Amino acid sequence: MALGRARLVQPSQPDVDERPLPEAEVEGEVLRLTGALTAARDELKQLRDKLHGALAREVGEFIDAHSLILDDPELTGGLYDLIRKARYRASAALKMQRDRLVAAFDAIDDPYLRSRREDVDHVIGRVQAALARDTTPAERQIAARVGSVLVTDTIAPAELAHLTEHGVLGVITTGGSALSHSAILARSMRLPMVVGAHDALKRMSDDDLVLIDGTHGEIVIHPTAQDLARYRQHQREQTRNAEALSRLKHARTLTADGMEIDLYANAEMSADIVQARALGAAGIGLYRTEFLFLQRREVPDEEEQFIAYRDVVLGMGGMPVTIRTLDLGADKADNTGVALGKEPNPALGVRGVRLSMLHPELFKTQLRAILRAASFGRVRILVPMVTTPEEVVATRELINDCARQLRSSGHEISDHYEFGAMIEVPAAAIALPSLIRHLDFIAIGTNDLTQYTLAVDRGNDSLSALYDPLHPAVLKLLAQIIATAHRARKQVTLCGEMAGEMRYAALLLALGLTSFSMHPSSMLEVRHAIARCDRAKLRKQCASLLRAQTRAGIDRVLKRMQAP
Ligand code: PEP
Ligand code: MG
Repeated sequence: MALGRARLVQPSQPDVDERPLPEAEVEGEVLRLTGALTAARDELKQLRDKLHGALAREVGEFIDAHSLILDDPELTGGLYDLIRKARYRASAALKMQRDRLVAAFDAIDDPYLRSRREDVDHVIGRVQAALARDTTPAERQIAARVGSVLVTDTIAPAELAHLTEHGVLGVITTGGSALSHSAILARSMRLPMVVGAHDALKRMSDDDLVLIDGTHGEIVIHPTAQDLARYRQHQREQTRNAEALSRLKHARTLTADGMEIDLYANAEMSADIVQARALGAAGIGLYRTEFLFLQRREVPDEEEQFIAYRDVVLGMGGMPVTIRTLDLGADKADNTGVALGKEPNPALGVRGVRLSMLHPELFKTQLRAILRAASFGRVRILVPMVTTPEEVVATRELINDCARQLRSSGHEISDHYEFGAMIEVPAAAIALPSLIRHLDFIAIGTNDLTQYTLAVDRGNDSLSALYDPLHPAVLKLLAQIIATAHRARKQVTLCGEMAGEMRYAALLLALGLTSFSMHPSSMLEVRHAIARCDRAKLRKQCASLLRAQTRAGIDRVLKRMQAP
């Protein structure tokens, strides 16, 4: 839950006043535009001034680019001409300029440059928002100072990380889904977020006091004394839980009947590694490398990647680190230096290992960096989006080639790395025996396995009720994957969001899972939930779980499992 003042960020398609401008109002409209341009410039400057350290470098670059666009005489000159000569109102002139510029960007061949149209949209959106707003900058500053809940149409993961560093307490988006990468990031940062609140921007104004509950997807505008009491109660419970859980920090993860369970951490940034160590993770079960590639123009070279991977390996001090090769494409495609073609159906398109195979030089650079990092600890290489044994075999060969090349150029490359695949495409799950022969371990990606089994886009909020990892078909696949891996004596870890949900711990143990990987912030809760489970008893209920024909039937079995 979060309590704060709403800070509205209007989407970049505001209401545009298309009525022609009477001559007498021209100079007034010019002044409104100048005021809005100044407000937008001030906002960017304030954002820039607030950044320090690594953030100043990473995010500052985007802000500088936006300031340059805002100062571009061609943009501003064109706007004033549209008002003075063509009698457009300021909002219509902005829309006109935006459409012209976007058309010019769309005609560019280079996909990176083409994607800069987003920056134009953001900049013009900022000026439009300033035009539409009547609060003064001083009032907005107050909203930011007392802690704000950001209300916006959509938010990118990088933006989210930056906002929380600057005191945003919660986020409401009018679109998006609970499975988007922003939502995953928000959950892992313990940032309350409510997605798919379609009319939030219309129903709220800047500075409205708002209470949000990310767990239940609730928004209370102008909360009453009762609502506030509920919030205080929630805060007290959080503090109590945090104290109780902190006792489990370095405890072993044991079920009530004494079976040891492996809890690994999912990681994306260095803070995750620190947290994973502090909370007693058994290692890193999933290191998502694509986050090194997002929000930047150039592809990180071998040296940069090597240093990033080596630091993770060193950070884990000898514990296993599972580095997943690039999983770009689908919803992870924003602003990268890798040329991603425009596809009608990107989730079913060139994504993960398919993309890496199409760009062997890119793939080899990454594999070389991983192999070099493997000299510093225990590294496991994990390949995403695998569908066929051929992909696995070809990747293994590529790794061996890279190792040979590195050795011949003087690097000491160990022979001991483990090689695994994400099982997240139904075909890979069903035909697992043909794949697993070539693998040392597997990792189940339930986020994608659910999406592809149910043919439900994980990012589509209008289908969120259908996106159900407890669908009987998904559970059957999970049981089958786990059993196949155990028969082949290969380690199987589940690293989708499901693994970090304490309410699913009993169900996953019943299905036979003994290795979980989750964001470190969920580890203590899951360790606590596992400690209350009797694994032997749960295993006996697996058959009835798999016999259940409907979701309601599954819920009944789950209830029985969770009964004390
Ligand atoms: C998954 O699909 O479950 C997974 C862990 O990978 P990602 O969420 O990065 O696609
Ligand atoms: Mg996946």
